Amino acid sequence: MESQYKEMWERLNLDIPAHDALLEVLGKFYGDIYLTQQGRLKGMEYLDFVISEIHGLRIKELQEAKAKGRKVVGTFCIFVPEEIVWAADGICVGLCAGAEAGYDKVEEILPRNTCALIKSFVGFKLSKLCPFFESCDLVIGETTCDGKKKAYEIFGEYVPMYVMEVPQMKWDADRELWRSEILRLKARIEELTGRKIDYQNLLSAIKMINNRRKALWRLNELRKAVFVPISGRDALLINQISFYDDPMRFTSKVNELCDELEERVRRKEGVVPNGTVRVMLSGCPMAIPNWKLPYVIESSGAVVVFEESCVGSRNTRDLVEEDKKDLDGLIDALVDRYSKIDCACFTPNEERLEHIVAHAKAYGVDGVIYYHLNFCQPYEIEGFKVKRKLESEGIPLLTIGTDYSMEDIGQLKTRVEAFVEMLSPKA
Ligand code: SF4
Ligand code: SF4
Repeated sequence: MESQYKEMWERLNLDIPAHDALLEVLGKFYGDIYLTQQGRLKGMEYLDFVISEIHGLRIKELQEAKAKGRKVVGTFCIFVPEEIVWAADGICVGLCAGAEAGYDKVEEILPRNTCALIKSFVGFKLSKLCPFFESCDLVIGETTCDGKKKAYEIFGEYVPMYVMEVPQMKWDADRELWRSEILRLKARIEELTGRKIDYQNLLSAIKMINNRRKALWRLNELRKAVFVPISGRDALLINQISFYDDPMRFTSKVNELCDELEERVRRKEGVVPNGTVRVMLSGCPMAIPNWKLPYVIESSGAVVVFEESCVGSRNTRDLVEEDKKDLDGLIDALVDRYSKIDCACFTPNEERLEHIVAHAKAYGVDGVIYYHLNFCQPYEIEGFKVKRKLESEGIPLLTIGTDYSMEDIGQLKTRVEAFVEMLSPKA
């Protein structure tokens, strides 16, 4: 059946046959991983709908907003303070990069041994497969890891690119640098949108994004329950969708879902039998449609109850203080909140170790699965310190390095099953 959005995709200059094939594969993948789950929540219907319209309705909304003069800004990293974009009446979207696409073209301009996330976002653009990219008036990168930093230089030849400098340490001088970078971004966004950012519109944007974080954190907290009310797959999906759905609509839908979850917790109703092995996933972000590892874990007799990741707790744990009297105060509040991000790109990064242990205890996890993408040096190297810390706390750990291909799924399943078996209560 021909899609009602074909004309729009043609206007966006997508490669229509390749894009049709992508949507077909994605639809099947989603069906296998998500729709086969038992006892899903009613509130997930909205998320299923959003996914089914991933390149349709939301893109149409973006195009309609653009026709009215609004600007669309794409980001790759939770370091970019999206409140600045929303304050200037822009629309911020996370550019997903969770599937293999166009690698043949990518490997003409980037080394083969680049992490899957970078290859994926470059591949989606070069293969004309992503209507989000084609809707962006500006793409904001950041100097986090070396791979992204250098890739952006080349990527800037294909998209309108702007790069923020993120400090690598957390001294006073780094804070000053970060503050000046937020102000530089503010000026660039004002220039792009033609709108001044003032106290009132920035405060509204901060409240809107804080509300989204609060809803996602409320969802997280409910996963502490002994009877786990939602699968890790569904929780991950909700976090993934938060990056590109309309924030107000999304927040209200997640709060409705949380009401349903609270009911389930009250009724002591879990998605898995009581006593199922509880796992924390920790490490690299999992962008849509990177569902491989959660699926492997949850089809191996365990349930994921926490994501220590940028598509998870790292993005939702901290709020921006709203109680500020002027624009300068709000900028300081942004600086402070974003400085709390404990990405492995920082050195030293002891607070991440503390967070992992604290959350492992609070969520009653039986073990941690530490996930890094192959060739991701920050997360792979930091894995050593995470391992040592967890060992000292007596928390079991399994480390997995992988990419977006499906070739290793059998091998991953064997390793995860052995880990889950080790954690399972013996009869
Ligand atoms: S892992 Fe680090 S670089 Fe990647 S999105 Fe998170 S904060 Fe940004
Ligand atoms: S996964 Fe690692 S290497 Fe890849 S972009 Fe993120 S921090 Fe960089």
